[in-house]
Amino acid sequence: MVMLKHGDRVPGRGSMLRVGTLVGQGRCCEVYRVKQDDVKEEFALKIYKKESNYAAACRRETSLLEMLKARGNIGGHLVETLDQFQYKGHEMILQELLDCTLRELMLKVQALDSTFSFFLLQKFTQDILVSLSGLHLDGFIHADLKPANIQWSPKDSCLKLIDFGLSFHKADQNIGTVQSPAYQSPESKFWNEVHPETTNCNTAIDMWGMGCVMAEMYSSEKLFPHSAAISSNKCDACQAGGSQALCMYSKKVQEDLLPRATFDNTTRSHFLQYKDLLLKFIHCDAEKRTEAHSALNHPFFSLKLEPSFHDLILLPTCILRLLNAVDEKDVQLADEFLDLSADIRQECSRFGPIHQFIIPDRHPGLGKVYIHYKLAKQCAQAFQSLNGRTFNGHTIITTYYPHHLMEMGQFY
Ligand SMILES: [Zn+2]
Repeated sequence: MVMLKHGDRVPGRGSMLRVGTLVGQGRCCEVYRVKQDDVKEEFALKIYKKESNYAAACRRETSLLEMLKARGNIGGHLVETLDQFQYKGHEMILQELLDCTLRELMLKVQALDSTFSFFLLQKFTQDILVSLSGLHLDGFIHADLKPANIQWSPKDSCLKLIDFGLSFHKADQNIGTVQSPAYQSPESKFWNEVHPETTNCNTAIDMWGMGCVMAEMYSSEKLFPHSAAISSNKCDACQAGGSQALCMYSKKVQEDLLPRATFDNTTRSHFLQYKDLLLKFIHCDAEKRTEAHSALNHPFFSLKLEPSFHDLILLPTCILRLLNAVDEKDVQLADEFLDLSADIRQECSRFGPIHQFIIPDRHPGLGKVYIHYKLAKQCAQAFQSLNGRTFNGHTIITTYYPHHLMEMGQFY
């Protein structure tokens, strides 16, 4: 069912919203790209179906997001909500416009017959753990962590958790079904099947899901694709008090996650660090699973990893990188460099106001130009328009650039 059509105008609380394309739909809502009349930025408008349980899900999600925002523990990793209102009997939420889900990113990479680099695995794992850590600190459990519920934010250059429809507070024992089948911990499965008086589902169920998502990001295959692969109790080896090495789920990780033939000694060591972290989440015993905030101290996150060219065209951000725009000689000739720099800046400013403009004068950034736009949309337009253009005798190649590397002064 399509609830809005292109060109419709919806009165938001702040200003009139012009409806664009449908960008997603789920069981309870549809998501449209919208523009506010007085602002250039685009947003996502979530419109909920009228049934009372969907409206309740909407109210639960907005009050949870508001509470999380007020507490501030998730910071920029929380989806930004700008407005919530009713229109023609539908509950609506106006949020920041996100890009691909992690599921879609996996499919994109598979279509290129490729895999995520360790740079992306490190960035993605860290982003999800930062979100979980903030959520858990506030006592909430996401309870449906999976690649379809993790989405890229071009504005903040990070992955964010979405869909808090199954989320609950750890003090609340009156919960419904938790976690989707391939990401379900043994205790979630027991709770979903048996529904005993009280549940022992807590933040550790998200950490099991984290392990499953990490395995899938590496291998492109679900770790436990069938619900029958998980028992609703600890595995036999763990029930007998065996070590983690004997646990049937740990063994599955060891069997499924193998180093690739292309790995050299360095990438092999990155792989071992990644698998070591993943194994800390796949414990039958919920108490033994490492918590999100502690996991962020794992040595895998201390590895200094460089993004590849492909990494930087996969994920849109507000920062544009120009390759082949200037060369060493240009940068050394002061007068000509100033002219060239002014020309590039002027050309780039056609797409929107420039927040930051950097031309490094030394390697590894030498020969490249970094332009930070205010809006992701302006950056995407510059990315499209400037790619392949000839400038000062050079053919320019465009990529995006992650905010965190720019903030750390790391230019590749
Ligand atoms: Zn076990």
